[in-house]
Amino acid sequence: MLYDLHCHSTASDGKLSPQDLCARAIANGVTHLAITDHDTLAGWQSFSQLPADISLISGIEYSCVWSGMTIHIVGLGFDPSHAVMQSGLAIQADARDKRSLIIAERLEKLGFKGAFAAAREYAGVNQIGRPHFARFLLEKNHVNSINQAFDRYLGAGKPGDVKALWPELEMAVHWITESGGIAVLAHPARYKMTNMKLRRLIMAFKAAGGSAMEVVSGSQSRHVTSHMAQLCDDYDLLASQGSDFHGPGSPWQELGRFDELPKRCRPVWEQLPMLELGA
Ligand code: AMP
Ligand code: MN
Ligand code: MN
Ligand code: MN
Repeated sequence: MLYDLHCHSTASDGKLSPQDLCARAIANGVTHLAITDHDTLAGWQSFSQLPADISLISGIEYSCVWSGMTIHIVGLGFDPSHAVMQSGLAIQADARDKRSLIIAERLEKLGFKGAFAAAREYAGVNQIGRPHFARFLLEKNHVNSINQAFDRYLGAGKPGDVKALWPELEMAVHWITESGGIAVLAHPARYKMTNMKLRRLIMAFKAAGGSAMEVVSGSQSRHVTSHMAQLCDDYDLLASQGSDFHGPGSPWQELGRFDELPKRCRPVWEQLPMLELGA
């Protein structure tokens, strides 16, 4: 058994279609996969028939805010057609639309003309995210790399970091748990918070109904893994793991390739309410 419970398809900012993502996961030995696109189930809904040789678990990665920071909450094992999930998706789609206009406006003010049209074109029928604006800045030679686009214009605290439209953490957790799923605090180490602040985040997340956190997210040091396992223990949370794969050759980890959960962790998949799509 190999669980990869965090990855992205073309429905958000991933490079592979959901179908190609499954094929690659199977080739990499993944037996259970959750496609966790940002704020959408379009990838999940694009399957006309279930892929053989891999079990799909319903998944999403919701954007929200807590204490003025953008936080990501993964949902696993929920009922995709549940009315509460559907209302969450509609709210997020609207927030993303409005946010993309504000990001574009801010970039245009900085002199980067044509930001919206380019992002719209790259995203196609799918929703716009900051990576589309990063690609625009790179292709127009306003920056030397995608990383530089985030460092200068799109990352935390920069003009393109428009948080105002995201719901509070409690709301994102609610959409997941009310539709029968498990809310998972995504990549806690990546927020670069002090340990004190991270503990406050975990307490707020737990109080909202969250019950798991990613102890292993992509490639990370053993030191980070043991720190996350300790927090997971301290707050009596289930442990999740995932690559956060976005596509071949991107700076993210390959599907199914990450360290095992420390033995003392209780894996989230032992508690997943409805494990398989269509099961
Ligand atoms: P959004 O969902 O529109 O807020 O965009 C956030 C996404 O941008 C993340 O999920 C990452 O995939 C991507 N991202 C964030 N920082 C970087 C970076 N420094 N380099 C490349 N991609 C990034
Ligand atoms: Mn992403
Ligand atoms: Mn994330
Ligand atoms: Mn992700």
